[in-house]
Amino acid sequence: MPGFELFGDLERKEVNDVLDNGVLMRYGFDGMRKGYWKAKELESELQNTFQSKHVQLVSSGTAAVSVALAAAGVGAGDEVIMPTFTFVASFEAIMMLGAIPVLVDIDDTLCLNPEAVEKAITPKTKAIMVVQMCGSMADMGALKTIATEHNLILVEDACQAIGGTYKGQPLGSIGDLGCFSFDFVKTITCGEGGAVVTNNKDYYINADHYSDHGHDHVGNDRGAESHPFLGYNFRISELHAAVGLAQVKRLPEFLEIQKRNFNIIRKALAEIPEVTFRKVPEGGEESCAFLNFSLPNLEIATTVSEAFKEKGVDVCWNYYNNSWHYIRRWDHLKDLNSLYPISEDIRRGLSNLKTQDFSISDYHIGRNISCLIKLSWTEDEVKSRALKMAKIIKEHL
Ligand SMILES: *Cc1c(COP(=O)(O)O)cnc(C)c1O
Repeated sequence: MPGFELFGDLERKEVNDVLDNGVLMRYGFDGMRKGYWKAKELESELQNTFQSKHVQLVSSGTAAVSVALAAAGVGAGDEVIMPTFTFVASFEAIMMLGAIPVLVDIDDTLCLNPEAVEKAITPKTKAIMVVQMCGSMADMGALKTIATEHNLILVEDACQAIGGTYKGQPLGSIGDLGCFSFDFVKTITCGEGGAVVTNNKDYYINADHYSDHGHDHVGNDRGAESHPFLGYNFRISELHAAVGLAQVKRLPEFLEIQKRNFNIIRKALAEIPEVTFRKVPEGGEESCAFLNFSLPNLEIATTVSEAFKEKGVDVCWNYYNNSWHYIRRWDHLKDLNSLYPISEDIRRGLSNLKTQDFSISDYHIGRNISCLIKLSWTEDEVKSRALKMAKIIKEHL
């Protein structure tokens, strides 16, 4: 995954354009820019990448999720359904708006379980947030049907899945709104950055204004612009956008390397009958940012992941005890450790998180090992890594 591994001259050139003109901000200062609009250029590149009508760059993936929800009108007291296996950003982005995260189980796709989603719907539910974890996806057909039937907004967090597709459509472009992160460890990086993707013009305009203090961006005098509604500052800078612009042009090359490395390891592990792979929904193509496989049970997965670590097979994780990605160890959320008072609505919504039964998620995450696929590995390095992994797994079955 990490695009930073292949950071080089192309990125430096784009950044130097910005350093030369000195306009580090994405809006205004037309006369000084020497024609460079890196954020705008990156947005139009991303429209192609995601085959979507509108892209709004923002300052991070977390900001992208918050801005997407706000753009669709999600706020105080609204429930947003999200998976137990994701990144902490999911609930952060929901709670920032005063909305209530409702956590539900995943299935063998390692993403939202459509049946669990349907069961969690209440009159307060406003949106479903699907998180396309580790380069693959949930059953998007089923989720779209549920969202349509119940008149809910479908938000797609595809921060880890750029380049993946479902029935030919880029992940992130299938829901009403899609979110991407370009932080330092994502497939393409800006250093920090994110994007909201949508085909809905109203949502786009909302995202554009909301991420820049509510500015309407009409005319060419920033000081004279009006503010139709409240907003915040989630702007990306030109320096960050410049890095992303170089990186996005290299995306096809990155994806090809990812796929090659992924397939070498997958093939070696597929020869072990006890190893199974996550389910990819029919019509889905993974981005290959991660290879996820399952072992017979939690105990074996734990010993194998420890043995990987001991024997130098890095960037592989069993998420069962991970405090960033899985519900079991989100103690700060369960205890509502907050610097400032939290609304009664959210308190009530999260009150049974400590005792809720997530045994189905535990079953899938407990057995799973997730391996990051690096871009800097040579083919020989991947081959010897694959053999080493297969050997270690066999020793611990
Ligand atoms: C990285 C990530 C985010 C947050 O992105 P940042 O740019 O780091 O704020 C959100 N969701 C998922 C699934 C991620 O992997």
